[in-house]
Formats: sequence, C-alpha cells, structure tokens
Amino acid sequence: MTPSLYVSRINQIDAAQLDGEIYKMLRNQTKEIAKYCTPGKIDKWQAEVDAVLKFLIWKFSLQRGSSTFGQRLLNLHYANINQRKAILYLILNVVPQYLKDKLAYENLSERGAFARALKSLVDWMTNAINLLEFVNLLLFLHRGIKPHVIELLLDLSSQSITTHRPRIIGYSYMTRELLWHGLMELFTIGIPMINLHYLKHVMTRLWRQPKPSIELLPVMNAATKCAYCYEDPILPSHAGCEHLFCYYCLQAHFTAMSKFQCPKCNAELHAEDMKRYTIASASWSDDEESDDSFERVDDG
Ligand SMILES: [Zn+2]
Ligand SMILES: [Zn+2]
Repeated sequence: MTPSLYVSRINQIDAAQLDGEIYKMLRNQTKEIAKYCTPGKIDKWQAEVDAVLKFLIWKFSLQRGSSTFGQRLLNLHYANINQRKAILYLILNVVPQYLKDKLAYENLSERGAFARALKSLVDWMTNAINLLEFVNLLLFLHRGIKPHVIELLLDLSSQSITTHRPRIIGYSYMTRELLWHGLMELFTIGIPMINLHYLKHVMTRLWRQPKPSIELLPVMNAATKCAYCYEDPILPSHAGCEHLFCYYCLQAHFTAMSKFQCPKCNAELHAEDMKRYTIASASWSDDEESDDSFERVDDG
C-alpha cells in the first residue's frame, strides 16, 4: 500500500475542524468543573488552563506521532515533521493566543506604559496573523495544501496514510436528523393553529345539553374557585351564570369561540355578557352592613 500524495481539500479542512472541536470539548469540560468554584477564581487562570490543554493535546498527538487527532481520524499525517518542527508547532500554537488572552484579562491602566505598548504590539500581531490566515486560505483553496499558517511557516504538508479512496459519507444519520427537525418544525408551527379550547368544548358538548342561561349574579367568598380551572380565581370574571372564572380562563374561551357552556351548570355563556366581578355588582343581601365592615377593616 503506497501512501497517496494527493489529499483532498475537504479532508484537510475537516481535520483542522476536528482538532478545533476536540480542543473545545476539553475546554468546556474544564469550564464545567470550574462552575462550582468561586466565580473569578478560575477565570483568572483561563489563559494558563487553555495553554496546558493545548500542551496536553500536543503531547499525546504530535509529540508521539506525526499527526494531530483530527488528522488521525481522517487517516492523514504530516509527511515531513520532525522533533524540532513539532516543538515549534507547539510554540506557535500556544504562545500568541496565550499572550492575547493574558493581556485581555489584565487591568492595563495599573501596569504602566510598557504593558500598554505590549498590548498594542499583540493587537497588531493578531491583525497581521488574521490577514496572513486569510491570504493563506485563498492560497490553500488554489493549491490544495497547507490550510493553516503554522503549516505554511513550518513547511508541513499533509499526506494520506492509506491509498487514496473516495470519501464515503453515511447519510442515514443526517437524514434522521433532518426528519426529526422537520417534525419538530411542523409541531411548533402547527400546534398553535389548532383551536384547543374549541375542540375540547365540542367534545364535552357531545354528552351535555346546553341550558338557556338565567341572569344570575355570582357571589364570591373565600371558598370560591374558578369553574374552569378549580383554582382561586385570578381577576374574577363572569358571563351570565352564577359561577366565577379567572379572567384568563373565560377570555381564552371567548377568544376561541363566541359562546361556550359553563362547565358547572351547562348554561350557555356569551362573549358580550362577560363582566369583571366587582363587589358592587354582587348581590349583597346586606349591602350597607358589609360596606361598613369594609370601612372598619380599613380603619383598623
Ligand atoms: Zn381559572
Ligand atoms: Zn355556571
């Protein structure tokens, strides 16, 4: 089996992407652990933690072999890597990011002119590296080798370990994922369009005959519950029968349909009869007395 010189662009990009993902996964794990510490204690050392993670990844991949984890997953390796290049790779990978993170966390106004000059230098370097990355990406798309600036600087080129085979991609997982998302979208769009209040009402009407409503005014006391949800009525309202509802319970029904049956007495209620319950509207048998008692409570 002779190793193939040609490596497709997509494999090289994917390898780099996988490296990034592996690093991100480990980084998230450390954040999970740090979640339970005092806030700010670990954050201060985030730049160091990131550097150590990068070092560990490097130690178990490039220092021992000739490929990063991402490349290994895609059967690639660096053809012309040696110990010196591997160490330079680590330095270029860790140091610029470390300096940038470290200076971002520091309070520079206390550190004087030198730190500020260093910061502007690092900023300038970051911009230069970003520009270089962009130019290198264009070159990579044109030539198909060295997707990263580090690879360009160290003259590293990827090679396939196995003989060149067309890449086989399993679409079953992706199809399942698409179907699932389609289904979820259908539910989130479809369910709000179903008039649930109306459906529920139609079902209950199948075995309950409506009665003409007789004008009765409800009376509320400490034991009164909403006739629909059986909780203490919130903003008590009524619509023609002697039962009280929460404002929401009643209004939701009248938004869904113009008339519905009281679940307790089967009286047919109409949207235009809906009123908010007030003490004045209640039929107090002893009106004046109760008014007095309210005033007395207020005074006390
Ligand atoms: Zn209610
Ligand atoms: Zn009723």
